[in-house]
Amino acid sequence: NAAAPLLEVRGLGAGYGQVSVLHDIDLTVGTGEAVVVLGANGAGKTTLLRAVSGLIGHTGEIRVDGQVVSNARPDQMLDRGLSLVPQGRGTLTALDVEDNLRVGGTALANRGEVDDEIDRWFGVFPRLAERRKQVAGTLSGGEQQMLAIARALMSRPRLLLCDEISLGLAPLIVQELFETLRTVSVESGTALLMVEQNAELALDIAARVYLLEVGEVASSGTAASFRENNNIRQAYLGY
Ligand code: ATP
Repeated sequence: NAAAPLLEVRGLGAGYGQVSVLHDIDLTVGTGEAVVVLGANGAGKTTLLRAVSGLIGHTGEIRVDGQVVSNARPDQMLDRGLSLVPQGRGTLTALDVEDNLRVGGTALANRGEVDDEIDRWFGVFPRLAERRKQVAGTLSGGEQQMLAIARALMSRPRLLLCDEISLGLAPLIVQELFETLRTVSVESGTALLMVEQNAELALDIAARVYLLEVGEVASSGTAASFRENNNIRQAYLGY
């Protein structure tokens, strides 16, 4: 269905056991679109990405290309082109950089494709190329985050789900990472759904924004409209 958005979430609810975290979430991401979800600690941002990527169950509906894929497994979502960069640097710390990327590419057709893709991401992240035989656990925080992103990109996703990739990183590193992501997104048409507390930088690369407050979408709109809204600016941008 060419007219349908890449990702469409309708009336989504999710939580953990008896604890319900998300309520009636509506959200869409278009092909190639960059969308950011802002919200305070505990608003449910991570839970949202977990539900969308199939790591936890949910109520309501998730559609990809107009097709219902509710409660699919993570590998099924990956097959449909959704790839998650989990919070806290999703690397396999005991494996070296190159093997981490290989694991990310297991869905690709053959060894040659995997090698091509590894070369591609080494080109985008030269610091990873220099450390290809280094064990991931000994990389700096910023390098691990680069690796987590490159690993998630190895499957050639159409939508990259990023869970607070700025967390715990120096501002300059974060800026560099965001710029790289923006370039990747524009050049390969990869859509982004980013969950962030760093509103300032996220608004720079996002076209649209959702504001999550205690498990609900409190408001949504264009990044420009969010910058112009005084209340939101003070609460999330601090000026
Ligand atoms: P942060 O920015 O602090 O990471 P968040 O917006 O990503 O916050 P979530 O991690 O989605 O928020 O958490 C939402 C709520 O769900 C919190 O109250 C949290 O305590 C709760 N929660 C998260 N994981 C679990 C779990 N495994 N079991 C029970 N409750 C959980």
